[in-house]
Amino acid sequence: MAQERDFNEAFPQSLELTDDDSVLQIVWDDGHTSRLRLDALRAACSCAVCQGHHPSQSLNLRPEQFPDIRIADIAPVGRYAYHIVWSDGHDTGIYTLKMLRETQNSA
Ligand SMILES: [Zn+2]
Repeated sequence: MAQERDFNEAFPQSLELTDDDSVLQIVWDDGHTSRLRLDALRAACSCAVCQGHHPSQSLNLRPEQFPDIRIADIAPVGRYAYHIVWSDGHDTGIYTLKMLRETQNSA
C-alpha cells in the first residue's frame, strides 16, 4: 500500500463542511489546507459508474450538474481514501487522499 502515499506523508487532520455545506475543507497534518467545492468533487468521481472502464464510457460529469449536491456521509477507507455518500444517492465513490490533496478546484 506504500504507493498510495508516496506523494507525501500528509494525512488529513480534520475535515469540515463550510460555506453552507457546499465546500469540504481539509486541514492536512503538514499545515496545508484544501478547500474542495462539492459540485466539482462530485463531478470528479472516479468510480466505474461515472468514469466507465474505458474513456468512451465516461459520463463526462460537470460541476454544473450538481448545483445543490451535499455530502450525506463520509467515512475513511483504511488510511488512503474516503468513501463519500452523496445526497443524490450516489454511493460508490472512493476519493483517495492523493486525489483530494491534488485536486485544484479551490473554492
Ligand atoms: Zn461515481
